[in-house]
Order: sequence, then C-alpha cells, then structure tokens
Amino acid sequence: MENCIFCKIINGEIPSRKIYEDNLIEIIMNINPISNGHLLVIPKEHIININEITDEIITHSLKIIRKDIYPKLKNKLNCEGLTLVQNNELGQEIKHYHIHLIPRYNDDKIDFKYDEESIEDIESIYNKIK
Ligand code: ZN
Repeated sequence: MENCIFCKIINGEIPSRKIYEDNLIEIIMNINPISNGHLLVIPKEHIININEITDEIITHSLKIIRKDIYPKLKNKLNCEGLTLVQNNELGQEIKHYHIHLIPRYNDDKIDFKYDEESIEDIESIYNKIK
C-alpha cells in the first residue's frame, strides 16, 4: 500500500536490517529498540491489524518465532526471555500488522505497570467479557 512504511520496507524502497524472510513474513530490526535485539515480524501483505490477519500468518509467525528466532536470540544475545507485543488500533503507530519481539534480560527495566487508578472492579469486568 502506498505511503505504508512497512510496505516500502518489504518492497525494498526503504532499507532495513533483515533477520529472516520467507514467502509470508519478514523479520527486521526495530530502528527504535526498547531492548537489545528488538525485532518486528511483518507480514508481506498489507494487513492492518488483528481484525484482518489470517490464521495462516499468525500460526506461521509463531512457529518461526518459536523454532528459529527465539533460539537464535538466546544463543547470540544471551537473552533470558522474550516478550511479544502486538498493538491493535489504539497504540498501533504503523497501520500494518506487526509483532514486536522484545528480548528480555535479567537486569532490564521493561515493565507493564499496574495502574491502580485505571483499573475497575475485576468481577464487573469479568462479567462484561465472559
Ligand atoms: Zn503496509
């Protein structure tokens, strides 16, 4: 899609540091990493978010992450964990589906902070979504 930075990366119009590529996905270095080795898994097709992604691409992506990428990150970077983040709509800066792969290290400061003020009663939330 025109003016999509990830489509331009896939098409080679914008250079990237490619870690992995096949017929469905590319995995590149994030240029604004929040940990050493922060990668982005991007489908080659312009797919906006989780509302549009196919089961095939999700399954394939997780398989490649599990079998190839996470072992490589552990082996080459000595990371001790891996956090996956995938934003949809709100919080999604680039409107082309992507999974963040964030290698974790014992001494890192990455945290999903508990914000007491924004949390409603857990039971009422449960009753809304069950
Ligand atoms: Zn795109």
